[in-house]
Order: sequence, then structure tokens, then C-alpha cells
Amino acid sequence: MAHLPDRLRLAIFDLDGVVYRRERPVPGAVELIQRLHAAGVLIRFATNNSMVARTGYVERLRSMGIATAVDEVVTSTWATAEHLRRNEPKVGRVLAVGAPGMLEELRACGYAATGAADAAPAGYAGGPLEERFDAVVVGLDPTIDYRRIAIAAAAVRAGARFVATNADRRYPTPEGFLPGAGSIVAAIAAACDVEPQVIGKPEPAMFRAILAAARIGPEQAVVIGDNPDADVLAARRAGIASILVLTGVADRRLAETLDGDRRPDALAEDPYAVAAMLDGRLSG
Ligand SMILES: [Mg+2]
Repeated sequence: MAHLPDRLRLAIFDLDGVVYRRERPVPGAVELIQRLHAAGVLIRFATNNSMVARTGYVERLRSMGIATAVDEVVTSTWATAEHLRRNEPKVGRVLAVGAPGMLEELRACGYAATGAADAAPAGYAGGPLEERFDAVVVGLDPTIDYRRIAIAAAAVRAGARFVATNADRRYPTPEGFLPGAGSIVAAIAAACDVEPQVIGKPEPAMFRAILAAARIGPEQAVVIGDNPDADVLAARRAGIASILVLTGVADRRLAETLDGDRRPDALAEDPYAVAAMLDGRLSG
């Protein structure tokens, strides 16, 4: 088990259930973030959402009174681009299955990204694509259709690396659940018979990309999340200590039953308790 760093340099926050719920900040979150900023701790807000470019989160956080720089926001799309840049340097041409915000982010990260809908003629009826792609990146595309699944599968079969921003099969909305990126990834994986590399939580690649980009070792970082199955598990797999905050999906009763890789290094009732826990571990 990792333990909380003696001198904290990087705090990776989950967003929903930790920093805000719906459109409101979680009480104490603004103060915790201010305290960490003041002490010179690097902050990253890490979300599995692939659909919104990082600038969209900056605006959302600012509207809640949380001053945020774009470099502090990590989406699964940004993490995918960073992962490819570090580990697959030959990848340049990317076929993208995702929302417009995902294409925008991939292009902002320097990739020649083509939306799957535009990678074949209108009447595509199977067979090889005209263009060769180095990677197929799949996130949540709310307008997914059969043709895009077919085109993405053809690109993977032709040799493109198959990378999923995340594998969440569904995600919660105020009204209930909707299919997540993982449902689309599963359809494409079935069609090409290749399993993708998954970047988002609970896989460790997103957190590893954050550490590598910040040049900070896992022993100097902490993950603050509300979901044992995503945040805590990804932290453990990346070798980072985690604090489970009970302001989101987990309550104390659930938290006390957690074991193995889902057991956090510390439990905190709310962000105020996180601040108290970290106070002696800050240098400023
Ligand atoms: Mg959460």
C-alpha cells in the first residue's frame, strides 16, 4: 500500500462528486484548491469525459469560483494524446470516433485527426479505406452510427493502433444512465476482433501521463476521488496514494467494506477533512 507523501507536490482531483456536484462546488472544495495552490502544489483535474475540450472545463470551473488554468485540466482525450506522444511517437494520422470536442482537442495536441464519418465515401460498403491511419482513437460519440463503427473497424484491421479514451460502459445523467464510450469501444472491438488499449480510469495510463508531463514521481502525488472502482483503482495501479472523499458515489458504510486495490490510503468525510489531512504535508 502506498502512503500519503511527506511532501506533496501534485494533487490529482476527480471532478464530479469531489470538486462539484451538478453545477455547484462541493463545500470546502474551493478552499482546499486555494490552499494547495497557495502552497505551490501542482493541481490536475482529471476526468474520463472525452467529449469536452479542456477549455470547456476551465470555463465550467471558473463559473463555480474555481480559478483554473487549461494546463490543470486533464480529459481522457488529452491523456490519450499525451500517451501517444510519449509511447507511440510514430503516430501522426488519427481516425477519431468521438464528439467534436474530442477532435478539437486531438488537433490542438498536434494530431492530424479525421472524424470517422469523413474517412470514407458516403456509400461506404466495407473494404479497405483509401487513407491509412496510425491510430484509431475512440471516445464517446453521441451521434455514433453503423457506418462509423464499420470505418473505425476497417482502419484497425488495416493496422492502426486501437486506443480507447476510456471504457466506461455507461455514465450517469440527472435523468438516469446513458451508454458511455465503452459501449462504442465494445462494438468496434467486436467488429475488428482487436482489444483496445484503454487510457482513462480505472486504467493507470491517464495518471501516468499526468506524472510524466509534470515530471513528478508517484510517491510525491496524491489522487483525491470519490469512486473506488475508478479513482482509487487507477491510483493504485499507477503507484499513487489515494484519498477517498465521501461526497460522491461512496458513503462510509461502502468505504469500510473496500479491500484490495479498491481500498484507499485514507478516507475523508469532505474536502475540509482532506485539507486537514494534507496540511502538514505542504511546504508553503
Ligand atoms: Mg467522481
